[in-house]
Amino acid sequence: MMAQYLEIKAQYPDALLFYRMGDFYEMFFDDAAAAAAALDIALTKRGKHDGDDIPMCGVPVHSAEGYLLTLIRKGFRVAVCEQMESPAEAKKRGSKSVVKRDVVRLVTPGTLTEESLLEARRHNYLAALARVRDDWALSWADISTGMFHVMPLSRPRIGAELARLAPSEILVSDTVDEEMREVFADLGLLPTVLSRGSFDSTSAEARVCGLFSVQTLEAFGRFERAEVAAMGALVDYLDITQKGRLPILHPPRQDQVSRLLQIDAATRRNLELTHSLQGGRSGSLLSVIDRTVTAAGARLLERRVSAPSRELAVIGARQEAVTWCLENQEQALFLRDALKRVPDLDRGLSRLGLDRGGPRDLAAVRNALEQAETLARQLDGLELPEQLTEARDDLGGHDALIALLDDALIAEPPLLARDGEFIAAGYDAELDEARTLRDEGRGVIARMQADYAAQTGVSSLKIKHNNVLGYFIETTATHAEKMLSPPLSDTFIHRQTTANQVRFTTVELSELETKILNAGGRAIEIEKRLYDSLKGAVLDRGAEIAQTGLALAEFDLAAGLADLAADLDWCRPVVDDNRAFAIEGGRHPVVERALTAQGAGPFIANDCALGPEGDGAAVQLLTGPNMAGKSTYLRQNALIALLAQIGAYVPARSAHIGLVSQIFSRVGASDDLARGRSTFMVEMVETAAILNQADDRALVILDEIGRGTATYDGLSIAWATLEHLHEVNRVRGLFATHYHELTVLAGKLPGVRNATVAVKEFEGEVIFLHEVRDGAADRSYGVQVAQLAGLPPAVIKRARDVLNQLEKGEREKAAPKALIDDLPLFSVAAQSPAPSASQDPSEVETRLSALSPDEMSPREALQALYDLKELL
Ligand code: ADP
Repeated sequence: MMAQYLEIKAQYPDALLFYRMGDFYEMFFDDAAAAAAALDIALTKRGKHDGDDIPMCGVPVHSAEGYLLTLIRKGFRVAVCEQMESPAEAKKRGSKSVVKRDVVRLVTPGTLTEESLLEARRHNYLAALARVRDDWALSWADISTGMFHVMPLSRPRIGAELARLAPSEILVSDTVDEEMREVFADLGLLPTVLSRGSFDSTSAEARVCGLFSVQTLEAFGRFERAEVAAMGALVDYLDITQKGRLPILHPPRQDQVSRLLQIDAATRRNLELTHSLQGGRSGSLLSVIDRTVTAAGARLLERRVSAPSRELAVIGARQEAVTWCLENQEQALFLRDALKRVPDLDRGLSRLGLDRGGPRDLAAVRNALEQAETLARQLDGLELPEQLTEARDDLGGHDALIALLDDALIAEPPLLARDGEFIAAGYDAELDEARTLRDEGRGVIARMQADYAAQTGVSSLKIKHNNVLGYFIETTATHAEKMLSPPLSDTFIHRQTTANQVRFTTVELSELETKILNAGGRAIEIEKRLYDSLKGAVLDRGAEIAQTGLALAEFDLAAGLADLAADLDWCRPVVDDNRAFAIEGGRHPVVERALTAQGAGPFIANDCALGPEGDGAAVQLLTGPNMAGKSTYLRQNALIALLAQIGAYVPARSAHIGLVSQIFSRVGASDDLARGRSTFMVEMVETAAILNQADDRALVILDEIGRGTATYDGLSIAWATLEHLHEVNRVRGLFATHYHELTVLAGKLPGVRNATVAVKEFEGEVIFLHEVRDGAADRSYGVQVAQLAGLPPAVIKRARDVLNQLEKGEREKAAPKALIDDLPLFSVAAQSPAPSASQDPSEVETRLSALSPDEMSPREALQALYDLKELL
């Protein structure tokens, strides 16, 4: 047995081998040590190998799924090795034969289909990245739903697309270079390396054609060689891991980068689209906007949020669908109610396709199709927008299958086909008979006894059972005579005569006996056969069923987005192809939700106008103290644009958005130390990516760029970056900065305008108004914010003194160092009596002296005058 184990294990060096022994999966050697540690189960010993103990651990087969889940989550791959014959069969081959075993499946993160191993509301992608000369392509599939896509892409886009898909597993060829490995590492992906052969585009084509039973791939589109290679590698890997049992995949859909709103990895993280910065779904945009009631609807929303559109027609059609749901609340309500009863069609179908399903998956298909039918009837004759009309057309057409499944299955069948008991009574005569025999064996015998008694006229005749004869008919010797002579002797066959009794059998009785004995087993066999034929009937209509699944998801999503819009008072944005960006009363959906949840005051809505259609500037330069709401404002505008382009309503009073091609969002000096690069380096690499890639339809938000280095370096870089984005890239942008010096750019560059988030100072304390207004912030209120944060009063006071001196010095053009040298030491200052108010310059004086009239436009000067007057 050990020899067999080692031989099989040698074929799966990078997977744990689950070696089936009776009711357990056992692991040996290093596998055992690793699994015992990962699963926190006992490590024992069994026998010796080369003189050493063999470490061993095991998990029971019936609870293996939970253990598998833990192992997969911890990054292991598991090869499941089953017994391919019973011990009895092995014995027949020879007394020393070991039971035949073989690996039936390699369980990897990207190839899961079990409900318990998957998140219902998220996709689970397996991706393959291929390169043919300088062309790259990415292919991805979710085998739990059958989705299969491919996309050619340029090398710099790879990181962004992988970030969008967040695959659980990525397949690469062994030629992949170091730089690409870094891209994977940045995204936390551990690539699975396949041999070059898997990616060979010639054999790949044959493989993909084979999967879809077509002569040429042209049936699905025109693919580049790299695309074919990527698809081929993916299919090859499925073949390897599923041991030749290929999942149902929909024909490959070719995506184009240019049709999607592009969002790179850093932006996705920053905007917390599908995961919050902490990593979970909660706190993400997705978590706040997801009102879908089915898992498929949630997955569709995840796909939309990850890949908003760039096509006006697509966006418009999706908006129409949401609007219809809003305007037809009653219908929408009915829709959502019906959808709540729809099980996960895609995943059930996929499990059936991989032969990992069971009766419950058949029932899921039945129930989902029935609900779809109900919906189709309900929507019949209604005037629907185009997208929903198409979806409605895909709902029906399954009458025959529904009727079949309805007749065949009980209402709530068990998970597994193994033990039978899922076919409805009355569906199959043979099965009914088998069950009747099994359950009512004795009743049938009793009926037969009555029949025979009537037939023979021997009322004392009995049917009995013993272990020697099995079932037999017994009568007293007196009555036996009649039965031993014709015509009754034709039917009753003599078996035995005892002292007082004579025993008979009949052909009918011995047939019945065999039937009763086999009935249980036969019932299960018949059920299995019926299961297979029902499964066949479902899979024959796999493509149409998948289409219905998608249609249900579309309805769910449209109704979910409508519910969201109605509930939170969102508006339908105007999306067109000019360069406008005009938002009135915009809000940040996630921050607002958090504030509401905490009962912490209302969220203050803010306008944003960029681009020629707004009142002028393409770039808004935002200054204001920390905590004022700058980051929130920046992100809310990016999120509104994104929501608009997935076809949703947006959190604003009104919004007009000229199609955005790319969104870039960067935060200065975030904590990326874990990735081994200095924070400033990360910041600059990311900024470089924007400057190199942003086109004139890009929306760029930069939050405190340049923060990661010395003041003047940072200021200079921020300055040059802003100029370049404005002059060369010609983007629409929002920049938050703490370099007040930058605000003079507003006077120099025509498209730059200053804005500030208003605060009020009251008795030395700062009050955040969270209101975005025109103009630059007068100061940064850093000391006040520090005070709010709870710095000790002595430190706050000292900081005020230093600040006053520095500001005074700046006014008098003195060198900062000399000034600081002049300051009394901290301990002295802290002990000296507080200076009286009259010694400090007043607010008006401070502000007045901070103004540089030469650098102000007349409008700014007038504004400054108003501001000063307000202080009196
Ligand atoms: P900054 O980037 O200026 O430091 P943030 O955008 O991080 O400030 O906002 C700080 C906090 O202020 C947020 O966590 C939120 O609680 C609150 N806040 C921000 N904007 C608003 C707003 N428009 N209305 C109400 N509260 C807000």
